[in-house]
Amino acid sequence: MTQFIDTHSHLYDNDFISDLPEVIERAKESKVLRCILPAVDKSCQQSLMDTASGYPGTLFPAAGLHPTSVGENWEEELEFVYETAAAHKYIAIGEIGMDGYWSKDFLSQQAIVFEKQIELAVRLNLPVIIHSREATEEIFKVLERCRQLNVKGVFHAFSGSYETFCRIQKTGNFLVGIGGVVTFKKAALAETVKKIGLENIVLETDAPWLAPAPFRGKRNEPSYIGIIAQKLSELLEKDIDEVAEKTTGNAQRMFNL
Ligand SMILES: [Zn+2]
Repeated sequence: MTQFIDTHSHLYDNDFISDLPEVIERAKESKVLRCILPAVDKSCQQSLMDTASGYPGTLFPAAGLHPTSVGENWEEELEFVYETAAAHKYIAIGEIGMDGYWSKDFLSQQAIVFEKQIELAVRLNLPVIIHSREATEEIFKVLERCRQLNVKGVFHAFSGSYETFCRIQKTGNFLVGIGGVVTFKKAALAETVKKIGLENIVLETDAPWLAPAPFRGKRNEPSYIGIIAQKLSELLEKDIDEVAEKTTGNAQRMFNL
């Protein structure tokens, strides 16, 4: 049976407060049967857990500290991730990584927090979900330090070059998360995914952000995964059922679903 997994969806965001049951229903009608909910920071974890526990077997929570939430209190936030991860079984450690776009003020702390959370994921035998924005070289420095750890995970919202993809693969067992950006006009990513190939791709929405065309700029939701799959099917000249089967299989193996 054709089914999809949305490997990156912030369904606990305030944007879904009024109609989450309908959003989940539409996802199921669109064959998106499971979604992974990446964490952001302490302030979101309770709503994340409450949301996930309302839909067991459908929504799967992660634990982690997002790089844009690394600030003055980063040590306290990191401690909270350790406590959270010890108290419950999570599907992944994420989203973690580095972000030089919003601010470069805490980049050195972001690197520490990223590395510590990679080590945590390896100890727990969990994959990581990596957020990388305008910090590619800094991310590689950390990943190269961790090379011996056999890190596994997903580079979420991947939009780099094929060369970057090849570099990523040399640092661990990584897949790339492809979402709405691939449907945007003139997306260089469209050419890159042809080289990356289905065997290295998982699907994601990053809901409520990054809605695919023709919904660009509107609220994103998991039922739009089919639009992304359709675009990949055209680009890679594969049947959409094959796109579903391969990307779902990749996600199942990576996240042990
Ligand atoms: Zn995210």
